[in-house]
Amino acid sequence: MKYCAKCKVNVHRQLDNCPLCGSYLDPKDNNDKCEIYREMDQAVAYPVLHEKGKASFFKSKFALILLVLTVIAVVLNILVDPQSHWSAYVAIGFVFTVGVVVFPIANKIPLLKQVRWDSVICTAIAIAMEFAVCDGKFYWLTVEFVIPWLYVAGIITVDCLIIFYHRNNKSMFGTLTFESAFALVPQILLWIAERCDWYSSKTLINFVIFFAVLVNFAVVAVVYSRQLKEDMERNLNV
Ligand SMILES: [Zn+2]
Repeated sequence: MKYCAKCKVNVHRQLDNCPLCGSYLDPKDNNDKCEIYREMDQAVAYPVLHEKGKASFFKSKFALILLVLTVIAVVLNILVDPQSHWSAYVAIGFVFTVGVVVFPIANKIPLLKQVRWDSVICTAIAIAMEFAVCDGKFYWLTVEFVIPWLYVAGIITVDCLIIFYHRNNKSMFGTLTFESAFALVPQILLWIAERCDWYSSKTLINFVIFFAVLVNFAVVAVVYSRQLKEDMERNLNV
C-alpha cells in the first residue's frame, strides 16, 4: 500500500499521486515493510483502476504521428535538397518533444528522474545541433553557451526543490551531484582541449559556471550537514 507522508493517509497502490493533495508518492514511503499493513493489503480485494482513454492517445499515437512526420521530412530533404541539413532540426525537435515532453507526461515520471534524463537528452541534442550547424566541427555556441546553462537549469531546479520542500532524500542529493558533475565536466574538458591545442574557448561562461558549481556544493554541504546534525541529535539523543 502506498502512503502519503503529507496527508498521513494510505493510498491505492496503483496511484502515483495522492488523490487528496496531488503530491508524488515516493516509493520509499510505502508501508509494505510494516507487517500489519502487508497482511491487511493481502486481505483486501482492491478494485482495478482504469485510466481514461485520453492518456492512451498521448502515450502511443502522438509520438508515432510525430515519428512519421519526421521520417517524411528526412526523406524529402534527401530527395529534394541533399546539400542542406534542415531535416536535422526536425529530427532534433522530434527527440526533444518525445523525450523531454511527451514521454515523461504519459508515463508520470518523477521530476527528479526527469531532470537527470533531460540533461542527458539535451546534451545529445546540443551536440547534434553542433553537427547540423557546422558538419561536426565544434562551434562555440553549444559547447560554451547551451550545454553549461542546461546543467545550471538542472541545478537550480534541484536547489529550489531542496529549499522549498525541505527534503533531504538520497535521490535529491544524487540528482544534484549528477547535475553538478555534468556542469564541471565541460570546463575540465575545455581545459584539457586548450592544453592540447585542440580548441580554444572564446567565452568565460564555462569558467564562471565551474566556480558557481563549487560554491553550490559548499552551500548544499552546509545545509545537509546541519540537517544531519539535527537528525543525529533527535535519533541518537546526542
Ligand atoms: Zn496527500
